[in-house]
Amino acid sequence: MALIVQKYGGTSVKDSDRLREVAKWVVKNKAEGNQMVVVVSAPGGMTDSLIKRAEEVHKTPSGRELDRLLSVGEQISASLLAMAIGELGYKAVSLTGPQLEIKTTNEFNNAKILGISSEKIVERLEAGYIVIVTGFQGIDEDGSITTLGRGGSDTTAVAVGAAISADQVEIYTDVDGVYTADPRIVEDARKLSSLSFIEMIEMAGKGAKVLHCRSVELAAKYGIDIHLRSAFSWEEGTWIRGSEKMEKAAVRGITHVKGVAKITVDQLESNGSLGDVMDVIEARGSDILLINQGLTREGQFEISLLLKEEEAVRVAELLRERLGGGNLSLKPSLGMVSAVGIGIRSNRLQGRVARVVNNEEMRVEMISSSETSLSYVVEGAQVDRLKKLMHYELIEKSLSA
Ligand code: ASP
Ligand code: MG
Repeated sequence: MALIVQKYGGTSVKDSDRLREVAKWVVKNKAEGNQMVVVVSAPGGMTDSLIKRAEEVHKTPSGRELDRLLSVGEQISASLLAMAIGELGYKAVSLTGPQLEIKTTNEFNNAKILGISSEKIVERLEAGYIVIVTGFQGIDEDGSITTLGRGGSDTTAVAVGAAISADQVEIYTDVDGVYTADPRIVEDARKLSSLSFIEMIEMAGKGAKVLHCRSVELAAKYGIDIHLRSAFSWEEGTWIRGSEKMEKAAVRGITHVKGVAKITVDQLESNGSLGDVMDVIEARGSDILLINQGLTREGQFEISLLLKEEEAVRVAELLRERLGGGNLSLKPSLGMVSAVGIGIRSNRLQGRVARVVNNEEMRVEMISSSETSLSYVVEGAQVDRLKKLMHYELIEKSLSA
């Protein structure tokens, strides 16, 4: 008998047919003698349409009210799934984040989980129930409902798994695992049977959308293995875990992000104005994809930031106000392609990529490299091409070597 947490994404619980399929699979696992906790996302598309409804009545809705509204999607999936399981003759109970006392910070739309009271789940498991939990939400100190940021149900699942010391966390989605690159762009992309926490964190942070980055960080922290797999084929997927034997290829995947923009501020006279730049960004809580800071020969500071395009436009406005305009430029319509793996530096992969890019005469806006990733920022229109080239150079070639 195992204690299993399963999480189902939006497309997996989109309509009644899907809910019945999921209910069957959950019941099958329960019938095999396991204790089951199921975390659900809102039905596919619902969170987007709720955001749209909110923006129709207010240009910038209050965080509290927006979270209150968005939490409803997951509640719909949870109670419907409990009913579908009941229809199969099994006992199920659905619980919301607040009912389970999933305590979070009060950062609306992007709250962090502080703790979960496991007794409420364990009590019901021991009474023979399948426990269904709404993903993506919790409650803050004042009793307001909060949400964890887009894609946050993955994080709920891992946090619940950690709280009850689950044997296994399975994340069901509409793809059958993690690939070496987006198979819609790179024909020869292949499915990975497993990868390490660090590799997955890097991949999620550099644009792979399969898992919420924070869910992997939590899994790494608590040492919980994640099995990412399909709720359509029900086949084995990709394991993400701590101890991972190194494969021959150092690079495990090529990820990309499109629709990003670069802000450059130069001729910053002192550490003071550099600090001003960081103040503005931190106060806004912007997610910075890349940052380069440098000192010029003239002794002036220069800083370049890569952000999602919409966010960059707003940050640029704020920076102009704060710094009094002048030496700030914004370059839109860019994309970032990253190679992720372990030993990027020690395997001297930077040079190989640089030569490929040179031959293609691509204009490179930014480069960043570490032991676990190598990122190139180029024109948005060049992203697919660069992704294919890097996949060939760093993955396909190494496999056939
Ligand atoms: N429903 C939320 C979203 O669409 C959370 C999730 O699906 O994980 O972002
Ligand atoms: Mg998701």
